[in-house]
Amino acid sequence: MLTYDVLIVGSGGAGLYAALKSRMEEDLRVAVLTKVYPTRSHTSAAQGGVNAALANKDPTDTWEQHWFDTVKGSDYLADQDAAELLCSEAPEVIREMEHWGCPFDRTTEGKIAQRPFGGASKPRACYAADKIGHVMLHTLYEQGLRYGVDYFNEWLTISLLHDGKRCQGVNALDTRTGKLHTIQAKAVILATGGYGRIYWNRTSNAYGNTGDGLAIAYRAGLPLKDMEFVQFHPTGLRRTGILMSEGARGEGGFLLNGLGERFMTRYAPDKMELGPRDLVSRAIETEVRQGRGGPEGEVFLDVTHLGEEKIAERLPQIRQLCIGFEGVDPIEEPIPIKPTAHYSMGGIHTDINGLTSIEGVYAAGESGCVSVHGANRLGGNSLLDILVFGRRAGNHALEYARSVDLPSMPKDMLSSAEARIKSLMEGDSEETLADIRRDMANLMANQAGIYRDNAGLTGAMEGLVELKARYKRLKVRDKCKVFNTELVAALELENMLDLAEVVAQGALERRESRGAHSREDFPERDDKSWLVHTVATRGSDERPVLHFDPVTITRFQPEARTY
Ligand SMILES: Cc1cc2nc3c(=O)[nH]c(=O)nc-3n(C[C@H](O)[C@H](O)[C@H](O)COP(=O)(O)OP(=O)(O)OC[C@H]3O[C@@H](n4cnc5c(N)ncnc54)[C@H](O)[C@@H]3O)c2cc1C
Repeated sequence: MLTYDVLIVGSGGAGLYAALKSRMEEDLRVAVLTKVYPTRSHTSAAQGGVNAALANKDPTDTWEQHWFDTVKGSDYLADQDAAELLCSEAPEVIREMEHWGCPFDRTTEGKIAQRPFGGASKPRACYAADKIGHVMLHTLYEQGLRYGVDYFNEWLTISLLHDGKRCQGVNALDTRTGKLHTIQAKAVILATGGYGRIYWNRTSNAYGNTGDGLAIAYRAGLPLKDMEFVQFHPTGLRRTGILMSEGARGEGGFLLNGLGERFMTRYAPDKMELGPRDLVSRAIETEVRQGRGGPEGEVFLDVTHLGEEKIAERLPQIRQLCIGFEGVDPIEEPIPIKPTAHYSMGGIHTDINGLTSIEGVYAAGESGCVSVHGANRLGGNSLLDILVFGRRAGNHALEYARSVDLPSMPKDMLSSAEARIKSLMEGDSEETLADIRRDMANLMANQAGIYRDNAGLTGAMEGLVELKARYKRLKVRDKCKVFNTELVAALELENMLDLAEVVAQGALERRESRGAHSREDFPERDDKSWLVHTVATRGSDERPVLHFDPVTITRFQPEARTY
């Protein structure tokens, strides 16, 4: 059996930062297990920037102002002690990245350059053209190799092992051979990214963002928090959902409706296009619903006035994606866009060190929920979250692993994972994976998307019960063991169905509108009843059971949120 002190599941920024932190203490055996090649993790797709109040562009910026912007952006649902850590530790983690060789863009004086971002009162997003995630992830991967982290690439984690009190390790499938393994570990850090793919046809997320770590934790009895809060990014490409970074508006891009009007004057007269994402996405949806969209229900992101030189220097990837996937050159014409499911505010419930309620089990990054983003995340704060809380989880896990012996393991650790795979692989069925996945995605986009109401969400819950029943009849058609991507997709789909149910249930029960959660039948924020976190655990009938926990408020009393 493979044995490690600290095992990290996921090789995005959160996982790699945590791994690096644990492994820099040379006495510990540290491994990263990832279902893709490490540098293909979704972090590499991040475009616009990472926030830190370095005050390089505006010398009056402070981390306290960043803290306030984050709490206001969260619609007051963020825990303020956690958000304080996020913002006060930001300059330090950015400098650490810089010292590891992360190639940020520079000002003329040689300082790290910063650009304005949505919902931020000062320009504080540090960037590298429009490829910040790519350069961050490569920097962390290189450093991991340097410090001797072990990598298990293209291994799919299937379940978390614990004895009710203490972490024991994981079960995982080596997709190259089709063999199941148990990996024993004193500490496991789940850093598996978000669950944006539950909106399969309308998301900016990588194909792998199926929320595996959350579903694994949920099945292992751990609570998930604030799952109904799913961020729709205002500017996804019209037909594919591929992201057009907020950096495009940060550099001065406009939003135009089908009539050519800069409609943001109606919704955020001060911040205009740089309003927070929830507000801008709703503005777009409203324009389209009221008949002011383009022919395919889109609006337009216009950067033509920035000119060829600036677009080539600051937004080269955006231009390439736009030409490649939409046939439109943004130098010459406005980009057709629609809001796209982008970020999972919800996640595995953790404390400020990423620790869950089981000793030795941690979660960090988009799969965790500390919570620093509350009901709506600000652009540039997620890459920061993965650094700050990846680091904290790594540090805490390493101290823990030092303090305990290896956990004891019963003999039949593999049996339930084996049984799950066997039931998918043996026999035939009429159901296909693609059909169930498409029906789930349509249900979620139409009934649990940007705007929600009681009837739609009740229907979504019923629809999901039906989809889960169909899933039970599903059989994988490809019977091969080696690189069986259909089997992987089937296991991912089961995860997504579980999470979709938690999202819809939370959205149904939360009878108010806050941040990204917008109920047409309860349009106001209701601090008296709903200034609480939604916490979901899996009931004995496999359906979500919810309870509500208080929000930590330290400095900023909730106020009306206007921009
Ligand atoms: C297109 C796009 C642009 C973005 N731009 C920005 C930006 O400019 N600024 C910003 O702050 N944020 C941005 N974000 C958000 C930010 O990039 C992500 O929230 C963040 O990178 C998530 O990092 P992570 O480490 O938590 O997970 P990810 O980078 O998503 O990595 C997840 C990892 O988990 C592994 N994994 C998953 N399931 C399993 C399993 N079952 N077994 C084994 N391994 C598994 C995957 O292989 C992967 O390595 C953007 C997001 C997108 C989608």
